[in-house]
Amino acid sequence: MRVIIAGAGIIGASAAWRLSQGGAEVWLLDAGRLGGEASAAGAGMLAPGAEFPAESGWGEMAMLSHAGYGEFVRELCVESGLGIDYRVCGALDIVMEGEEVLGKGEALTAAEAAVLAPGLRGSGIAGAVHCAKDAVVDPVDVMRSLRRVCTARGVRVMEQCRVLSIRGRGAVVHVATEANGVLEADAAVVASGAWSSQIAVHGEEEALPVPEAFPVRGHLVGYRHEPGSLGPIVRHGHTYLLQRGSGRTIAGTSQEEVGFERKVDAATVEDIHKRAAALLPGLIGGRPEESWMGFRPATRSYTPELRRLEGTRVWLAYGHFRNGILLAPVTAARLSGEILAS
Ligand SMILES: Cc1cc2nc3c(=O)[nH]c(=O)nc-3n(C[C@H](O)[C@H](O)[C@H](O)COP(=O)(O)OP(=O)(O)OC[C@H]3O[C@@H](n4cnc5c(N)ncnc54)[C@H](O)[C@@H]3O)c2cc1C
Repeated sequence: MRVIIAGAGIIGASAAWRLSQGGAEVWLLDAGRLGGEASAAGAGMLAPGAEFPAESGWGEMAMLSHAGYGEFVRELCVESGLGIDYRVCGALDIVMEGEEVLGKGEALTAAEAAVLAPGLRGSGIAGAVHCAKDAVVDPVDVMRSLRRVCTARGVRVMEQCRVLSIRGRGAVVHVATEANGVLEADAAVVASGAWSSQIAVHGEEEALPVPEAFPVRGHLVGYRHEPGSLGPIVRHGHTYLLQRGSGRTIAGTSQEEVGFERKVDAATVEDIHKRAAALLPGLIGGRPEESWMGFRPATRSYTPELRRLEGTRVWLAYGHFRNGILLAPVTAARLSGEILAS
């Protein structure tokens, strides 16, 4: 079976890996570079307590993905021979004076929280909730490994290959590309992140409605610190800080509906820096060394679209919004299972 995947972010690339493990011939097409968009820009926080509408089932999917993340990373490392910065470091949900204690975890006093994260000293917090199972992964490492394992398994990675439309009724799916003509496959997957609904999907002749995907821009900033100087993730409202194994400390974030505007906004960077310095005054001293942004792929329900378009051999896999790095393992397993069984 040949499967064409439109989009080589973490969703498309991890599905390509699982499909190739299952024996499919996979062509992984990207309008730009593999891992060139949201998937390399993300912070890589793996928080199973992430909120989803109860009826969507994605809360359970997030728990499942989180529980299996260590194994996903281990398998990727073994197969690729490359390292991945992944740590179950826990998280502190900070409680300020007068705020309600929220979150599922152990309630800590300010002094107890400062033992886990000494940088909190001087911040005037009232306490924290300790979520011991939260983890971090470097998504750039994950994308590098996915490229290696996909290539090694014979996945045809086609970069600078934009998909324009997919015609999917009947046994053969036709995928029209900008630069490589019309490609034929037995199944196709739309995994183009925030751009997914720009790909027109047709049945025989008729256009099939697909849910809108749109970008929600997020900024992050980075600092250089001593490795190990920040243990757990520290979170408060829209502000969070986490540290890579190298000591690179990342602070976020913003949530902006500004279309596909790529310009890094200086005022937003300044705002994130100020919030980060107020939360961890004992760690954040100087200015950030770097700042960047990415487009979270959202849908109007803010839950992922992961399903087969009725009557076609076309699957949708997009809209993972703030949790695509967390949800990639479970998405890839479910999608590849369905396609291989079809
Ligand atoms: C600032 C920020 C922080 C984040 N933090 C976290 C976090 O801590 N934890 C977490 O789990 N998630 C986080 N996320 C969310 C996560 O990064 C995304 O949900 C995830 O990367 C989405 O992956 P994707 O493969 O769907 O999209 P993308 O990575 O955007 O990949 C889509 C790909 O499709 C390609 N494409 C577009 N149009 C076409 C076309 N027509 N044809 C072919 N290819 C096309 C693009 O070039 C791109 O490479 C964060 C995101 C941002 C921006």
